[in-house]
Amino acid sequence: MMNDTGTHVPERGERSKKLFDLAKSYIPGGVNSPVRAFSGVGGNPFFVSRATGSRIHDVDGKEYIDYVCSWGPLILGHAHPEVMACVRDQTERGVSYGAPTEMESTLARMIVEALPAVELVRMVNSGTEATMSAIRLARGFTGRDIIIKFDGCYHGHVDHLLIQAGSGGLTLGVPDSKGVPADFARNTISLPYNDLLAVDTVVKNHRGRIACIILEPVCGNMGVVPPREGFLEGLREICDREDILLVFDEVITGFRVGYNGAQGRFGVVPDLTCLGKVIGGGFPVGAYGGRRDIMEQVAPIGKVYQAGTLSGNPVAMRAGIKTLEVLGREGVYDRLERASSTLDKGLTAAAEEHGVDVFPTRVGSMFSMFFTTTEVRDHATAKGSDTARYARFFWALQSAGVNLAPSQFESGFVSTAHSDHDIEETIAIADRAFGSMVSGGGG
Ligand SMILES: *Cc1c(COP(=O)(O)O)cnc(C)c1O
Repeated sequence: MMNDTGTHVPERGERSKKLFDLAKSYIPGGVNSPVRAFSGVGGNPFFVSRATGSRIHDVDGKEYIDYVCSWGPLILGHAHPEVMACVRDQTERGVSYGAPTEMESTLARMIVEALPAVELVRMVNSGTEATMSAIRLARGFTGRDIIIKFDGCYHGHVDHLLIQAGSGGLTLGVPDSKGVPADFARNTISLPYNDLLAVDTVVKNHRGRIACIILEPVCGNMGVVPPREGFLEGLREICDREDILLVFDEVITGFRVGYNGAQGRFGVVPDLTCLGKVIGGGFPVGAYGGRRDIMEQVAPIGKVYQAGTLSGNPVAMRAGIKTLEVLGREGVYDRLERASSTLDKGLTAAAEEHGVDVFPTRVGSMFSMFFTTTEVRDHATAKGSDTARYARFFWALQSAGVNLAPSQFESGFVSTAHSDHDIEETIAIADRAFGSMVSGGGG
């Protein structure tokens, strides 16, 4: 089967095909989140039967080494035995109470102790809720309406943040969503990532009107784009000078690029921090936190309203606490760094050997391989990548049992469950894939 970019796409197994047809009759596009539809690489998704450690299995019995890891949360790999034991124990005690438990304070304390910027933290159910609430709080605290974000940064599907919003939007070619009122978009200014001068200019032109600057301190939603040296520091300076709140969306990077997040890794302390993904251990959890005086504006003690029926859910808290506890053990991030570096270097060497132009990026265990020769530093340069080549590479790996993100503009994730053997096997498979791309000719 060929897709419309001329890429050879292997047929899915019968069961995956049947289940996708079934799903499409009840669910828009057959999926509950757009990127899962594989439209970024021109094919169909596999349906999952089970997953453990570094491996995910589809309903047709095919096994993949998985570098999607549920799009970031599963830093310990699938179904980590200690996390699963906590979850099983908790389900025996009840799954939701709508009343406080000690577990909520335990996870909150772990977050406060890990992240330099966080003194108080509120649990929510998703990264989207976290960024939405943080923006509301920043506006409530400053009494200002305008927010600055960056092209290609994704902060969940919040109305006023769905502007130049990366991955899903990039892949689908719809940077803005219908249904977002123009009035909302008017209060959002989106600038090129890594461009401090652009920020400085806009801030001067809107003096006293900007509530916050929100960004991914390492962008993971246009592929991985690290902050240039001085970018985060420069934003901190501008925010201090102009009384603007600096908001780090660490939904991916929190407990991913290090136990102390991107703020610990780069030594720049924001005013507010958004979390999600890893802190839920695979369950729906988000959180936002920051300076005490700002967080004290949140209801019930403050006048910024925010609530959630299932927020602080006991099963999710238990999974999150155990995940962070395991991550806090000696040498965990060193091992992740080593495995990720071996993978990154191996893939790059294989590409070079076959004369395939790539621009690899990596921060800790989040990695990308852009099919381009130019340095990727922002949305515009990321978009210059050859997505048809990425699709060829993706399908060659998929056939051989390696699951990469089905889009050039998503981050790959290494977990603690990825063994040296998994990494070696992946590099060998990629080496053959690059070889076939060259011998196959064309783009
Ligand atoms: C995934 C993500 C979100 C949204 O989180 P959801 O749990 O999907 O709502 C927000 N910000 C960033 C940086 C993300 O990667």
